Amino acid sequence: MKYVANPDRYQQMRYNRLGKSGLRLPAISLGLWHNFGDDVPHQTKVDICTTAFDLGITHFDLANNYGPPPGSAEKAFGRMLKEEFAGLRDEMILSSKSGYLMWDGPYGEWGSRKNMIASCDQTLKRLGVDYVDIFYSHRFDPETPLVETMQALDHLVRAGKALYVGISSYNAARTREAYNILTELGTPFVIHQPSYSMLNRWVETDGLLDTLEEVGLGSIVFSPLAQGMLTNKYLRDIPQGSRASQAKSLSTDFLSEENLTRVKALHELAEQRGQTLAQMAIAWVLRDKRVSSALIGASNAQQVVDCVGALAHLDFSDQELAAIDRYALD
Ligand code: NDP
Repeated sequence: MKYVANPDRYQQMRYNRLGKSGLRLPAISLGLWHNFGDDVPHQTKVDICTTAFDLGITHFDLANNYGPPPGSAEKAFGRMLKEEFAGLRDEMILSSKSGYLMWDGPYGEWGSRKNMIASCDQTLKRLGVDYVDIFYSHRFDPETPLVETMQALDHLVRAGKALYVGISSYNAARTREAYNILTELGTPFVIHQPSYSMLNRWVETDGLLDTLEEVGLGSIVFSPLAQGMLTNKYLRDIPQGSRASQAKSLSTDFLSEENLTRVKALHELAEQRGQTLAQMAIAWVLRDKRVSSALIGASNAQQVVDCVGALAHLDFSDQELAAIDRYALD
């Protein structure tokens, strides 16, 4: 049956401004890192993305290498743009990235001008679009002058292939350097994409969030659910089909007795708040106004529905925040 977007899709989502820019992102965005490769039926991907869109999730985050095989997530989303989402492109923010290994030889990864521009061109073909809304340097390249990577991002904007640019996982000092270069070039640099969750606080200790606030950049934080650990999924065992069961990026080493004790305590606190643990984990990253969007992943549509339920209860008392710190960090 032909997909018809929910007419009420903009009623419950919040849209947060990226720093000092004109662009707003949904408080919850959907990433296609896992579960969008050729190993997953296309209809499952369609269900996840249409459910997200119906709930007001206008932002879909991709990268050249998402799959498996690399590139297949962009192809799958490109197909949805033609089929389910035809005519809706202007209601969406699509992002992609380059930096991790994508093709053989010396130009298939990192941050050279050669890599960044060729990779963006490949992405546009796979998605079947003329431009992406945001194009990122996926990781800092210690061997390429930063100015070269930044000039490549600037070029992509001037060539009409990206509207805005961002960087991912750069530390505070490198972010400031990137900001200075891009400001000089006049590039619309609006966003940083770091990891952040109750269990992973490097953006606080490194000073990245302070830096973003100071220079007026927005942020979208990835893996706010710690890849599924901050959900009710692993409380009893490792369920069949879960990320940890598939020798993917979530190693069973993370599911140590110590970590599970933390997760169980956080789960109980979430229950007392009348939320699922996934909802509390998302609300927790969004409590910091320097976080513009929580970037989640999902293996089925119901998970997206559950996650968006976080918006019903975003506030925390000081006691709850202290309890979270105690359980998550001790
Ligand atoms: P999350 O921390 O949100 O983990 C997603 C996983 O959590 C899902 O695949 C699912 O696990 C589980 N899950 C989600 N919702 C629920 C729920 N309500 N109840 C129970 N389990 C749930 O994020 P990801 O690690 O997937 O990362 C999100 C996005 O961030 C990526 O798709 C990508 O776009 C981006 N990213 C960027 C990186 C970068 O370097 N810039 C690096 C990593 C991610 P399961 O599959 O087991 O069901």
